[in-house]
Amino acid sequence: MNTTFNNKITCGIKTDCSVCPLNKKETCPAAKQSCSTSESCSLEQIEKKSVETKKAAKFPKKFFMKKPHITKIQIYTWIIVPLISLGGLWYHKLGLIMPVMMVFLLILSYFRGRFWCGNLCPRGAFLEIFIKPISFYGKIPNLFKAKYFRIFVVTVFMTVFTLRTKAAFSAWTMMEALDKWGLVFATLCLVTTIIAIVLGVIYSPRAWCSFCPMGTMEKWIYNINKKVKTLSLKGAK
Ligand code: SF4
Repeated sequence: MNTTFNNKITCGIKTDCSVCPLNKKETCPAAKQSCSTSESCSLEQIEKKSVETKKAAKFPKKFFMKKPHITKIQIYTWIIVPLISLGGLWYHKLGLIMPVMMVFLLILSYFRGRFWCGNLCPRGAFLEIFIKPISFYGKIPNLFKAKYFRIFVVTVFMTVFTLRTKAAFSAWTMMEALDKWGLVFATLCLVTTIIAIVLGVIYSPRAWCSFCPMGTMEKWIYNINKKVKTLSLKGAK
């Protein structure tokens, strides 16, 4: 059974208000509102709350070690991030893992939306494991979530990708072209990972995901699927 004090504070019934030491010391939140009820309040509950408040004040939420929200597969997939972005700088063909993943995730997104983001993404796992514990959890700027900003990021990403791919395939031999193309992906992965780390530390660990070009494209592709389904349903009627 709970008691509501002036429609503001609710607590369980264990001790009578008139004998409650918290009330007398005016530390009970209900005391400030002149507890007129003959009902009693839960000392245990109030004490627990005050201990929690003190604890939170001593160690702000942002400094607590956070448990990463990752799937069993993502325990391993994060390795792909340093493998491509750092390993790819020396052995460029490692960068070719990225287009394979990109094609896979874009096809998958047609059927499952952002399944990749929540269950498989190596960068998502990397940010959860390594950046979450050190993130300051600042407020993510609204700009990051703005539609036009996301379109802008996809445009920049695709332009850089197209121009550098074109330059890579102007090489003499196919092996040389693949090597250069691998480096294109490795540097893209490195640059975007650095941005994701910086934003992850300042804002939320997954701040990058708010405008990640892959995430945006996944969303667009899934919307196409939904539109196709709606049209085919309308056609069937
Ligand atoms: S938004 Fe981008 S970085 Fe984030 S989980 Fe999805 S694909 Fe990975």
